[in-house]
Amino acid sequence: MAGTFGNPEVVQEEVDILIIGGGMAACGAAYEIMPWIGAAKDAGVDITVKLVDKAAMDRSGAVAQGLSAINTYIGPHQDPADYARMVSNDLMGITRDDLAYDLGRNVDDSVHLFEEWGLPIWKTVNGERFDGATWPKEGGKLLKDGGDPVRSGKWQIMINGESYKWIVAEAAKKALGSDNIQERVFIVKLVNDANDKNRVAGAVGFSTREDKVYVYKFKACLLVAGGCVNIFRPRSVGEGQGRAWYPVWNAGSTYTMAAEAGAELTMMENRFVPARFKDGYGPVGAWFLLFKAQATNAYGEVYMTKNKELLNDYPPYGQAAVPASCLRNHLMLKEMKEGRGPIYMDTVTALGKLRETLSPREVKHLEAEAWEDFLDMCIGQCGIWVGENIEPEKKNSELMPTEPYLLGSHSGCCGIWASGPEDVGAPTTEEHPEADKIPAHLPQGWNWGYRGMTTVRGLFTAGDGVGASGHKFSSGSHTEGRMAAQSMVKFVMDNKDWTPTLDTPVETLVEEIYRPVRTFLEHKDYTTAIDVNPHYITPRMLQFRLQKIMDEYVAGVATYYTTNGHMLAVAEEKLGMLKEDAMKMRAKDLHELLRAWENYHRILTAEAHMKHIQFRQESRYPGFYYRMDHNYVDEENWHCFVNSVYDKETKQWTVFKRAHKDLVDKSK
Ligand code: FAD
Repeated sequence: MAGTFGNPEVVQEEVDILIIGGGMAACGAAYEIMPWIGAAKDAGVDITVKLVDKAAMDRSGAVAQGLSAINTYIGPHQDPADYARMVSNDLMGITRDDLAYDLGRNVDDSVHLFEEWGLPIWKTVNGERFDGATWPKEGGKLLKDGGDPVRSGKWQIMINGESYKWIVAEAAKKALGSDNIQERVFIVKLVNDANDKNRVAGAVGFSTREDKVYVYKFKACLLVAGGCVNIFRPRSVGEGQGRAWYPVWNAGSTYTMAAEAGAELTMMENRFVPARFKDGYGPVGAWFLLFKAQATNAYGEVYMTKNKELLNDYPPYGQAAVPASCLRNHLMLKEMKEGRGPIYMDTVTALGKLRETLSPREVKHLEAEAWEDFLDMCIGQCGIWVGENIEPEKKNSELMPTEPYLLGSHSGCCGIWASGPEDVGAPTTEEHPEADKIPAHLPQGWNWGYRGMTTVRGLFTAGDGVGASGHKFSSGSHTEGRMAAQSMVKFVMDNKDWTPTLDTPVETLVEEIYRPVRTFLEHKDYTTAIDVNPHYITPRMLQFRLQKIMDEYVAGVATYYTTNGHMLAVAEEKLGMLKEDAMKMRAKDLHELLRAWENYHRILTAEAHMKHIQFRQESRYPGFYYRMDHNYVDEENWHCFVNSVYDKETKQWTVFKRAHKDLVDKSK
């Protein structure tokens, strides 16, 4: 019997493994897990699994719109250690080599699977290029049967990827079985075990379509709900609101739920500020890498050349063959701040040069590819080009650095501190002089048994969830999900006789989840205007407040990404008040209930971001943010991880350093 808006039906389920999210990492886990569950059954252990996604798997997560490149494919001729070096340099030296190397040596298998499942991967055979449209039907598999994938960069390969997520989700659904998948359920929080507060025992969420609250109990859980968007005031306001580079449905659920469960977070000060085509947020990778276009200031000067000496301020990260992403922004921002904007992608020159060497037919094909790059993954950018009469061969397009996003699988590395592989020589003891400040209950080294497990027992993560190891992208996130699936099955087998016990009564959990609804129903008649009420705040208004605080004090676009200790102190106080007021959010329907809890997740993620920036007394990522009171990279004191744990009872953060160690020789 379905409940009513004020009185939801409560559905309780017990499974061994719960997967939260339906994106790339979740699909990887869903695909991988069944054979291992089969092996466990053969060994006499029955394991049940369920996947819950707030949306519909076919089009959920960051790959929803499709992509035109797989950004991580190592291939037979490259070394995973080089990949780990690239990840480290791009993220200014503070990454976990164990995680990056492990990913590098495993990722290609996922790409081969995508191809087997029908994803068209471009390929060159005997000098002739084939893509999804031109590949001969009986041709077989592109990567496996010879020929080279078309690379748009050292690690990237081109695809016809409009239906990428459909293809990957189909395989995941087929493997897991539709009975084990629950779509349109938003998970609000994890529940710790009553007998062990450093362990997870359950999760609670609600249906976004029916008046139902779901309470799950489990032995292990994979938390893969993506990164976080919309904590900063977006550049798109008014009629453009809702448009962002990062897909709007990932609201920091991964980081907040993990933090509240007691998991150690890492590098939450890191953020990603992509420079993209203005207003449409269209991808620039193909333009830079495939069409060899250059970005210029308004006077046609190539700022990467003109401002090159600025890179010398940041050795060795600025001097690499490809300087760190944040530093490329740093060079662009100089032009903007000194009044030489707008910044342009010089599409006219790039296409003109191609015309000098290619036949008209080939140029036409390339121009079609440029459009398809948008159609594959960011259709809105086509709308902008059409609406603004932009023909790329005749008119250049503006570029703009976006508002900041938090993620751990693209060119960012915030996330959760996760156990690495056993065999990559990860340090087992801390060597940092401040090791005594690490809370005693946390592991000392980088490996504590199960790859992808967080510092909370039974809680695993992958993709955007795993911190200190960016550049995994779609294929790498899928791979990490697969690795976590194997670890979770092992964990459940090792704990087969353990029974989860929730530390909070179910009625209390239901009451909490539906609090915004009850607040609304109780007070809605107090005023005649539904949105104006002294007893509640609408999720929309609360979100404006969050975005204003972050934008103005925590280095958003309003201050050209600058902040300082004083501004952060103001933000700290205001976020504290916002956290209190978040308890007064209303929900007039299920849609607003979703918005209310998304906002709650955003606030805690934003607070973690602010706390970490406050703690790290340097500017590690110039171009992404600047602490103007410490506007330098301080290798001596801050070449280390900044990690934190949150206490859900006291609502306080403990922030501390962890030693960084190179496991791959960076002098090569
Ligand atoms: P996602 O795939 O984003 O999945 C998150 C999942 O969690 C979704 O299913 C979502 O519905 C669900 N979810 C969220 N909150 C909840 C909740 N509270 N309860 C239940 N479910 C929830 N990679 C490439 O290889 N090539 C590219 O060209 C490329 N371009 C990109 C462009 C953009 C704009 C972005 C953002 C990413 C791009 N990537 C690209 C990277 C790639 O998309 C990500 O690395 C990958 O999707 C991360 O996987 P994930 O599973 O961690 O998160």
